Amino acid sequence: MNGVELRKHRIQGFHQEPPRQLCIIGGGATGAGVALEAWIRGISFYWITSGDIGQGTSSRSTKLLHGGIRYLAQGEFSLVKEALRERQWMLKTYPNFCTKQRFILPAQNFRQAITYRLGLWWYDQKAGLPKNERHKYLNKEQFLKALPGFNGKAKKGLSYLDATFADQGFLSALWMQMDAHTPHVLNHIRVRGLKAAGNTWEIQGLDELDGAPFCLAANHVLNATGPESIKNLEEWGFSCPHRMVWSQGSHLLLKGNFMDWKQALVVPVNHGRVFFMVPWQNKWLAGTTEVVLNEFPKIPEPQKEEVQEILDSIEKYVGKKPNKEDILWQFSGIRPLVYLAGKSGKMASSISRKHLVLEHAPGVVSLLGGKWTIFRQMGEDGLKALFKEKLPPIIKDYPTLEPLPKIPKNKTKINAPFYKTCGAALFPDDLLFRRFSSGFEDILDYLNHREAWWSWWWPQAPQEEKRKEKERLTAYLFKALGDQGQPQD
Ligand SMILES: Cc1cc2nc3c(=O)[nH]c(=O)nc-3n(C[C@H](O)[C@H](O)[C@H](O)COP(=O)(O)OP(=O)(O)OC[C@H]3O[C@@H](n4cnc5c(N)ncnc54)[C@H](O)[C@@H]3O)c2cc1C
Repeated sequence: MNGVELRKHRIQGFHQEPPRQLCIIGGGATGAGVALEAWIRGISFYWITSGDIGQGTSSRSTKLLHGGIRYLAQGEFSLVKEALRERQWMLKTYPNFCTKQRFILPAQNFRQAITYRLGLWWYDQKAGLPKNERHKYLNKEQFLKALPGFNGKAKKGLSYLDATFADQGFLSALWMQMDAHTPHVLNHIRVRGLKAAGNTWEIQGLDELDGAPFCLAANHVLNATGPESIKNLEEWGFSCPHRMVWSQGSHLLLKGNFMDWKQALVVPVNHGRVFFMVPWQNKWLAGTTEVVLNEFPKIPEPQKEEVQEILDSIEKYVGKKPNKEDILWQFSGIRPLVYLAGKSGKMASSISRKHLVLEHAPGVVSLLGGKWTIFRQMGEDGLKALFKEKLPPIIKDYPTLEPLPKIPKNKTKINAPFYKTCGAALFPDDLLFRRFSSGFEDILDYLNHREAWWSWWWPQAPQEEKRKEKERLTAYLFKALGDQGQPQD
């Protein structure tokens, strides 16, 4: 059976089964938190999503597990405390997806250094860090040793600990693991409506691949559709007093040798925002921006002004502008920010990142807003609101997850069937950029010998060139995958 047939078979199976206890709609961080918490309680569930797993905001973040020092400045102490606890949980539970990372926060003057120290003292206390991991003051010599050539005004500052993680790699591994024994997951399904049928809910939708109607039944439904949550609720016939603000943030990914800094940089910019330069997978991730959109884009793309803003910031702090060879990739994500009913006039950067749990009908709950770092807590809160006093107790450990293998170097064939067994990888994009996204450099290795490969990755390349390069890449990789491995055979 090929990938498409396998998937159809699965859809049929889901349709004929008796209702499971839960259906999670949305294959991003929020859905992942619910799936994990349902898993350890032995709750039977489906986890379905439009597009591919992580195709939304959750593969487009700054890849930080952090308390968020800028939220401290906004007085969001409970959010920061919760995020620090969850950061530590993630480092302990899934260390193979996380990296502890020291950040430098430059201080302009003595007063600023004292204020930062106070905040970071609290930050470290709440995270329960051992002495050797707590924040440190850096004098000029230490500062420039950590950030050689730093071009900003301040040449002293604080070094403190946070973490980075493989957002998409973690999601993909979890998605596959959830499926290892029993089919749980399905992608490329768009939910269009919920219909009450006794004490169950019919989840009705469309198969995005062929437009065929889709239906399954569950006792509880959790709406984890991120920035589209409120739009979806309204389409499904529920009302929501709040409003979603679609705030786009973009990043540039630079070559690892663009600079030789030893630590990451975080600097406050305007309107309570911060600019990051973070080492990630032997490269540098620079961002981010904040642009409010009126329409929800299918695939968000960085706007020219955003790219310029990031380039200017890089030049300001690193002292040189990246050229096109230095830039490997650019991407944007949409923050799911919730404007609470009755509150207006706030800038996107000052809208709280605290999540919201809303019950719309018995057995239907939405999780709105939030952060990647607190995804597990969001999942737990969502289940508590859904199951109330009937929430099953925890009966097993969190599943063990291994990062998915990368594209093997110097091999011409990839074990694609492994990636499509759960009907998850159907398109080259699914397979390469999401299943393998943590192996981004492997894809580049594959392409390195190819003429003009960069035109696809290079942001300013004309659309037509990008399209042609993508076709060439797809054909090349399909060949490498071998006949057996073609995701759409
Ligand atoms: C630029 C940027 C940087 C960020 N950096 C960080 C960071 O460093 N650390 C951090 O903790 N957080 C960060 N965040 C926040 C974090 O990424 C988000 O809060 C989180 O990823 C949101 O996850 P989600 O699952 O709610 O949404 P999504 O990831 O968007 O997932 C929702 C999914 O639902 C699916 N869906 C939508 N409608 C339907 C439907 N009708 N039927 C079926 N499926 C549907 C979508 O296809 C999508 O895949 C950042 C966000 C942005 C934008």
